[in-house]
Amino acid sequence: MIEHVVGHDPDCLFCKIVAGKIPSKLVYQDDELYAFHDIKPWAPVHFLIIPKMHIPSMAHLQAEHAALMGRMMVLAPQLAMEQGCNAYPAGGFRVLANTGDEGGQEVHHLHVHVMGGPRPWLKG
Ligand code: AMP
Ligand code: ZN
Repeated sequence: MIEHVVGHDPDCLFCKIVAGKIPSKLVYQDDELYAFHDIKPWAPVHFLIIPKMHIPSMAHLQAEHAALMGRMMVLAPQLAMEQGCNAYPAGGFRVLANTGDEGGQEVHHLHVHVMGGPRPWLKG
């Protein structure tokens, strides 16, 4: 798998997850994207969608990444429903991309959080 991944950082936690060097609870994967359950969920449904390619954050995005980010956004509602989020409008979900220190980013491999399910949630 890893030989197909452009922009791999061997020291990056999420690159190691994509490479299978650190275990994760898989939600979805294809050639470009990988989704897995957050290890410390805030909500009944809480998973992350990441590009397999190492892009450190949303601050690093270029025009060439538009289609990839578009695919992530279209995938989010599909996976949210599959993972048990309730239907819009009474249900729904939250999509969050922490970016940089002041944005609360802890893992510097671009990811979007998808959170949902009945409230209350632990945070947010
Ligand atoms: P952020 O603050 O947006 O960078 O969030 C990073 C997220 O990654 C946090 O919600 C962590 O709980 C989650 N996380 C860290 N390590 C792992 C892991 N090994 N497997 C799954 N999720 C993780
Ligand atoms: Zn990475």
